[in-house]
Order: sequence, then structure tokens, then C-alpha cells
Amino acid sequence: MADVLTELPPVAKSVHTFCKKCDIDRYHKVLAHTNETTAKIECEVCHSKKTFKLPKAKKLTSTGKPRAARAPSASQRKSNHQSEYNSLVDSLAAMEEKPYSLKAKFEIANKINHPKFGIGVVRSVQPDKIEVVFSDEVKLLIHNRQ
Ligand SMILES: [Zn+2]
Repeated sequence: MADVLTELPPVAKSVHTFCKKCDIDRYHKVLAHTNETTAKIECEVCHSKKTFKLPKAKKLTSTGKPRAARAPSASQRKSNHQSEYNSLVDSLAAMEEKPYSLKAKFEIANKINHPKFGIGVVRSVQPDKIEVVFSDEVKLLIHNRQ
């Protein structure tokens, strides 16, 4: 289970990892932590000393592989959203906003004024729901309620 470690094993405990000298996985005693992600360890069989490194430290960004490849960071998502919102609102600058109400019926690209969320633009429409892009987030709102 050594490869799912997310933090260093405590000093004086053992960690199962590869020993070059023995040429096999061995238990190694942890002698000391050198920093947050590396520790001095000693093979319990041949007593050779080496440095143990955590495979993937979540907080560490300096050691190679950036984790951002798949999911954009929260701030990136936010700025993507902001630019989508801004361009939507810009493109509808001339349109008058409709006050939001449960009973009103909205259509795609309607500009609405919501008492809580402010100005939003309808992005998609279902018979009883609308998806509205507001400045902070996209909301699913009820409309066309009889
Ligand atoms: Zn060894």
C-alpha cells in the first residue's frame, strides 16, 4: 500500500519501498523527515540509507507534472464563466430585461432581471425550467408556472 501514501510515514515506522541494493521491495525504517515530502529511510535488510519521496503530494506544484491538465482551477472556471456572461450581456445590450417571475414565460436569449441574482441571460429552455447565466453562476429557474 506504499503507493497510496499521501503523507510521510511517521519516524520510526516502516515504509515498504524498493531497495536498489537488495533489488527488491523491502521494509525501510523511517529515520527522519527531511521536509514535508521526503524522509531519510534505512533498509531493514541491508541497512542501506536512502531518501524516500512521497509519490504524489497534492499540495506540491513544483515537482513536475502539473495537475491542471484535466480540470481548470476554480479561478479559471470563474473567469471563463465571467467572459461568457459578459459577452452574452454585451450582445443583448439593446434588449430590455424582463423581470423574473415564476409565471412569466421566457425564451432563449431573453434578458431577465432577477431580484436576487441580478441580470441574467436565458441559455436554454425547458417547458417549466430555464437555464440562466448570471454574473456569478448558471442557475436553473422555474418559469411558465400556471
Ligand atoms: Zn536493502
